[in-house]
Amino acid sequence: MKKDIIYLDNNATTRPYSDVLESMAPFFEDRYGNPSSVHKMGRDARTALDEARSDIADRLNADSPAEVLFVSCATEANTLAIRGIVNASCTDRDRIITSQIEHPSVLETCEAMEDEGTADVHYLNVDDRARVDTDELREVITEETRLVSIMTANNEVGTVQPMGEISSICSEYDVLLHTDAVQVPAKAPLNVQDPSVDLLSLSAHKFHGPRGIGLLYKSKEVDLEPILRGGGQESELRSGTEPVALASGMSTALDLAMDKREDTVRRLDQLRQLLWKGLSDHFGDRVCLNTPLESSLKNTLNVSFLHNESDKMLINLDLEGICVSAGSACHSGAIEVSHVLDAMDVPEEVAASSVRFSLSHENTKQEIRQTIECLTSARTRVSNS
Ligand code: PLP
Repeated sequence: MKKDIIYLDNNATTRPYSDVLESMAPFFEDRYGNPSSVHKMGRDARTALDEARSDIADRLNADSPAEVLFVSCATEANTLAIRGIVNASCTDRDRIITSQIEHPSVLETCEAMEDEGTADVHYLNVDDRARVDTDELREVITEETRLVSIMTANNEVGTVQPMGEISSICSEYDVLLHTDAVQVPAKAPLNVQDPSVDLLSLSAHKFHGPRGIGLLYKSKEVDLEPILRGGGQESELRSGTEPVALASGMSTALDLAMDKREDTVRRLDQLRQLLWKGLSDHFGDRVCLNTPLESSLKNTLNVSFLHNESDKMLINLDLEGICVSAGSACHSGAIEVSHVLDAMDVPEEVAASSVRFSLSHENTKQEIRQTIECLTSARTRVSNS
């Protein structure tokens, strides 16, 4: 018999809403035209694509639908934002400011551009809550800075950045601001005008939409060089036949995520409190908290199980069908600890034993209790062995 799954890995990916699947189905069945074709099927696909773009633009409070570019995922959106801005500038080498805790799609793009000699990059420090140092931003930003790229919320520990302050600093110096807002929909407000940003990345599968589509919001004031060239789709900024079904699914998912946000956040807050209380009651000083509870997305709880207990915990959770994420990865026999925990100055042995629980509106109190029970029995087994 198939065991029930308890899915607590929603920062990795989410289950699509059933309305999303329904909204996409016609475009896989009968409405499969290419939006660039001039015949009836093509025109129908173009209308559906335009509707999805326009709905999403309204939801993000963009000035016009043309500011929404469909891409394949947030990795592509982040890459297009950073490379696109630098490649569109007339200087040989641009200055970028980002932070040490960005997603690898931002960090590795910046590092590659440093190696290629097209950018100098400053990586801002964060404090022990993973909050970027805005004083340091003020010290290093100048009118020559081409781009600041700071994620709105961190995927590993959930920290939400002071985007209002960051946006004001960028405006003072007239510097472009990009934000990776991938973890935001359904969990925090989303509005490209408040705080004001020039570029913003999203990925549909992180908010109960389909995998295979993301978007880059790009203010109409901003010049961008394309990375993919060819058919000239997406206002010549991202060639490739548009995935109409996925765009329609992403638009439905964003509507639902934003409409249900307040209820979802209330629910996530209760579930996370229950989880953390259960863990601290049962584990006392054998568990430590890596997520700053007051300044983070309510769905994310990153903790470390001390005294080499976390591997056994993870195995036990997996055996019981409880899906969570380990904070460290094993590459060729060596433990690679999270760059985010490292930047927060979490000691290496604590970072190496971290576990991330990331919840969604679908989780229940019963699931949280089962998870705590599973961890507690793993603990008993560890201490008896
Ligand atoms: N940015 C953040 C904050 C993420 O959490 C992720 C995925 O984990 C990405 C970017 C990359 O998203 P995608 O898988 O859509 O490329």
